[in-house]
Amino acid sequence: MSGWSSPDREENLYVPVNADMEAAMNAEAWNQPPEFAPRDLWQDDVALREALPREGGGGWEAAVARYGALAGGRLYALGFDANRDRPRLRTHDRFGERIDRVEFHPHYHALMEAAIGHGVAGLSWREPAPGVHVARAALSYLHHQAEAGTSCPLTMTHAAVPVLAREPRLQAWVDGIRACAYDPDDVPAARKRGLTVGMGMTERQGGSDVRSNRTRALPLQAEGEYLLQGHKWFFSAPMSDGFLVLAQAPGGLGCFLLPRWRPDGIRNAFRLVRLKDKLGDWANASSEVEFDDAWALRIGDEGRGVATILEMVMLTRLDCMLGAAAQMRMAVAHALHHARHRHAFGRALVGQPLMRNVLADLVLESEAALGLALRVARAVDAAPRDAGEAAFARIATAIGKYWICRRAPSVVNEAQECLGGAGYIEESILPRLYRQAPLNSIWEGSGNVQCLDVLRALSREPASGRALRVELQAAAGCDNDYDASLAALVAVLDAANDPAAREFTARGLVERLGLQLQAAVLLRAGNPLAGLFCRSRLAGDHGLALGTLPADAGTDAAIGRALPE
Ligand SMILES: Cc1cc2nc3c(=O)[nH]c(=O)nc-3n(C[C@H](O)[C@H](O)[C@H](O)COP(=O)(O)OP(=O)(O)OC[C@H]3O[C@@H](n4cnc5c(N)ncnc54)[C@H](O)[C@@H]3O)c2cc1C
Repeated sequence: MSGWSSPDREENLYVPVNADMEAAMNAEAWNQPPEFAPRDLWQDDVALREALPREGGGGWEAAVARYGALAGGRLYALGFDANRDRPRLRTHDRFGERIDRVEFHPHYHALMEAAIGHGVAGLSWREPAPGVHVARAALSYLHHQAEAGTSCPLTMTHAAVPVLAREPRLQAWVDGIRACAYDPDDVPAARKRGLTVGMGMTERQGGSDVRSNRTRALPLQAEGEYLLQGHKWFFSAPMSDGFLVLAQAPGGLGCFLLPRWRPDGIRNAFRLVRLKDKLGDWANASSEVEFDDAWALRIGDEGRGVATILEMVMLTRLDCMLGAAAQMRMAVAHALHHARHRHAFGRALVGQPLMRNVLADLVLESEAALGLALRVARAVDAAPRDAGEAAFARIATAIGKYWICRRAPSVVNEAQECLGGAGYIEESILPRLYRQAPLNSIWEGSGNVQCLDVLRALSREPASGRALRVELQAAAGCDNDYDASLAALVAVLDAANDPAAREFTARGLVERLGLQLQAAVLLRAGNPLAGLFCRSRLAGDHGLALGTLPADAGTDAAIGRALPE
């Protein structure tokens, strides 16, 4: 009632009987679409509903479906304030004591609580069974659609477990993630119901080249314990309970767990210098940090730091793919929703032939991105049991991270334009998606680094190349465009290029591998869009921009299945 207490309002005797109904009538009168949300992100997404059981995650379908409804309802709504009111750094308390604390909008905490409680960061470790990584990937995909900033601490927490599990003294940390409980209190890990973990690799002088790290790790007398001196230039989710960091030990670069509080209950000696003023990713805090004799525990051997932390990076790269696919999905769903309800020149936008070309092309991108991301999730899931899948996961993670993340900004931008001016306005969520879209390509190894990693896998790990060929070959014989493109691609892989030429052309190769893999996933799934994908993406019947499908491309299948009327 408080909204009606001002004198102006009291004079206004008209009180609508049903405000929602009135808003809907007004929207129609002004040629505006109805609200996009709340909507059920699981029920609406036929590609996801098909992919989850196909890739082995069907056992968790009820849990994923529940989260889809939550993500498209309450979580979608919470995301707006969590991003509008950006996190604030408080270095000191009012008495001048250092506290190095970041304050978030309460909706950030509500998002984290919902995600962690539903297993976005811990399901794989709480319910280890074949297929669980696929189910967790689906949860992550749904969460990311609702709010992407929280996805950073969620993915790092999930991905830290295989590294933490290498050190028996850190079992409590593994248990703290498996607990699937969010506890934002800034107290020692031993007193918490659940734990979150961040990661510190990038320094001022080098991020891609982590071997250039200068932070030093000075051994203490107690086995495995060190003091860290130095800094990290990017240090996201700085309120995490612990961080996996790289630092130079006497025997070479090592991987360490740096807890927020030392085991003796004293606040650890790292200082948050400032928060990055970022293009997007506003709900999430990313800081610069200095270590001043900060206590840390080594994981793995000195000199093996990169190899140790790579287990984490493999999982975070998968989440970059899922995040990029999620951004595309949310943007494309908005474009379809708008085009169905907005009219121009006497017809709904969705009925305009050129708009149908754009929409169908967007759907192809979105479905191909999700399909490949979940296929890689299955490989990651099966890797401990199946050497072929492990070899495939090794190379497909780099290919998918490069290609899917590369596509996200163009797809989001094109979907944004489908909304016209409304797509440039914050309330539509499209600007937030647009700001977020480049990030998955940059962090966890930028585009070029991924392409060089694919070359490395092909030349030094022959099992990866073999697994890749097996995967591509399995889809042969279903589509002529696919077969012709595969033959040409295999010839390129077989050609003995000199290494410098190979490096110079690595992007071209990885793009082709990414497209061929996406086509293989769609064909093997019997996806009705597979033929059009092969023709437009592999046989070249397509322009440089989206919305350039050939004249006889049917658009009904794509537009019809992407979002229910
Ligand atoms: C919002 C945000 C949050 C982040 N959070 C974290 C975090 O929590 N923890 C963390 O450790 N890092 C974090 N990062 C850092 C991120 O991982 C790095 O920025 C990224 O790895 C690139 O490193 P760099 O910035 O030093 O760029 P550089 O290494 O200087 O690379 C610049 C460019 O050169 C390219 N390049 C590098 N080597 C080659 C080569 N040999 N051939 C061709 N091209 C090459 C790269 O692909 C890139 O495009 C974050 C970054 C951002 C933007």
